[in-house]
Amino acid sequence: MTKYVLVSDNTLLYDYHKFPLLDFLPSAPSHAVPRSAYNFLRGSISPATEGHELRLAPYGLRKLEAALLAGGISRGEIAVAHPDHLGRFIKEDTEIIAVHTMDPFGLGPTTMSYYALFGGKSISPYVRVEWDELISRINALRSGKKAKLIVGGPGVWEYTILSDEIARQKIDYLFQGEADDCAALLFRQVVERSIDPNVFSTSYVTYDDTFHRTTRQHTNFLSRGSSIGPYPKLEDIPDIVGPTTKGMTEVMRGCGIGCDFCEVTLRPLRYYEVDKIAREVEVNVRAGFDYAWMHSDEIFAYKHLPQYVPNQEALVELYTKVMQIKGVSRTNPTHGRISIPAAYPELIEKLSAIGRTGRTNWAGIQVGLETGSEKLAKMHMPAKTLPLKIGVDAGWQEIVWKGVYNFNRHFWRPAFTVQVGQSGETDDDNWETVAMINRLSNSSVNGVPFEFTVTPLYNMPLGRIKARNVEVSLNPSMLAVYYASYRHLAKMAYRNAVASSRGNPVMRAGIASMIGMGGYAMMKAVEHIGRKRGLDLERAKSWGVGNRKNIESWAVINAAM
Ligand code: SF4
Repeated sequence: MTKYVLVSDNTLLYDYHKFPLLDFLPSAPSHAVPRSAYNFLRGSISPATEGHELRLAPYGLRKLEAALLAGGISRGEIAVAHPDHLGRFIKEDTEIIAVHTMDPFGLGPTTMSYYALFGGKSISPYVRVEWDELISRINALRSGKKAKLIVGGPGVWEYTILSDEIARQKIDYLFQGEADDCAALLFRQVVERSIDPNVFSTSYVTYDDTFHRTTRQHTNFLSRGSSIGPYPKLEDIPDIVGPTTKGMTEVMRGCGIGCDFCEVTLRPLRYYEVDKIAREVEVNVRAGFDYAWMHSDEIFAYKHLPQYVPNQEALVELYTKVMQIKGVSRTNPTHGRISIPAAYPELIEKLSAIGRTGRTNWAGIQVGLETGSEKLAKMHMPAKTLPLKIGVDAGWQEIVWKGVYNFNRHFWRPAFTVQVGQSGETDDDNWETVAMINRLSNSSVNGVPFEFTVTPLYNMPLGRIKARNVEVSLNPSMLAVYYASYRHLAKMAYRNAVASSRGNPVMRAGIASMIGMGGYAMMKAVEHIGRKRGLDLERAKSWGVGNRKNIESWAVINAAM
């Protein structure tokens, strides 16, 4: 009897043709991208097992499954349901339907950045369209039955803003926080209608624009109560038992670098030991993966030394352990900071040798650059370059340039984000970001143009989202940042679309031309909007690259290393 049905937001289940930047597709506004193009570009959904469960599920949902099992709930009572087969699992005796979400209403930064660009009467990105469709389907299936609907995952905070959606979507509870050590208890207490307020508080945590934390009472929200503490202990986090989408496994939680726009930094640092990481990677290898995608918010902080000096020994041990697993031929981390390749090229060289990066095996890594402005970098993320100090060891843009140079030299392709709309930002700061992007876009290593992508994000202050005052008009300097980013992306899409797309030759040609054209169309769309709103396009194209003196002197320094 399936008492507990675990479900994922569909946008976390598509393969996006394994083309990295297409992961952002569901953030696109539904009024600007035709549904047929969206359906084609999102690719295939994770296949079903013979038992109609998900073959690959998001890591967070796998952790919930593992937590329920570790808490004494039997395998037969849990199903990680495939979205095409929900009706097979949601029955009269189902007790709980738990749904995992990342960005249900499109209030996340990527989605807001598209909204800021394209506008519209209301925010209706595909993430929201798909979420609405899923919840409506679940509600139709559970209508007249006793099953409670619980929503969890990193996107739960969006319901603290759009709280009227809780009743509209007939959600019984939203769980906020990490539940690895208490999920089974939570489910039992919900079923027995006996929620102990010492264990689960009916409240949620919210932040203001400067990340000051407040707790608010709300009967639909549940979070960790005083008797279990704010976070699970490392030893109480069980291993996943089923394979994950994209072969992702976690290596640590928290960060601690202290960027003032980031909530992750508030969570305590906890590192998984390499044996635990290896056990989780093996689960994915048994499902057919030949690579391991290691998730953290800052890989170079893994067991770091004082002043965030990277712990080279620990990182080498981690990479070695993962690559020694039979069946693993590639690995890459999810996130890392740019100062480490800038200051420790020998570390990147060592990790690259272990991870076997090369011309046909680039390691992707997401890196938050956020700005080209030295002033804003010092103001909002002064520790992000540790152990280097901005303005003492080198200027911010020089650190970035050296970081890309050393990443590319060893076949790491960074995927950058930059922000507009930061507090204290002026037009000059945005033009510094334009200059940084143009310089990187016009640089090369060993005669090969720099390989990187850059995605602009609109930094919408939480206060404005809460006040539902999200009408945005990008000014010309902000549009210049968007334009420089999409101009570079069009260049990269043209250069890499064929090589990066997967499938048979006909499929690859179709995907490659869609991506190539998509990159060009996006650049043209920004150009069109920019021209209408007074952006000087010629200035945006050439800003920062008129004087190549700096780039050349950084190149000389690096060539000598
Ligand atoms: S380095 Fe990244 S994860 Fe860490 S605080 Fe800064 S933005 Fe957040």
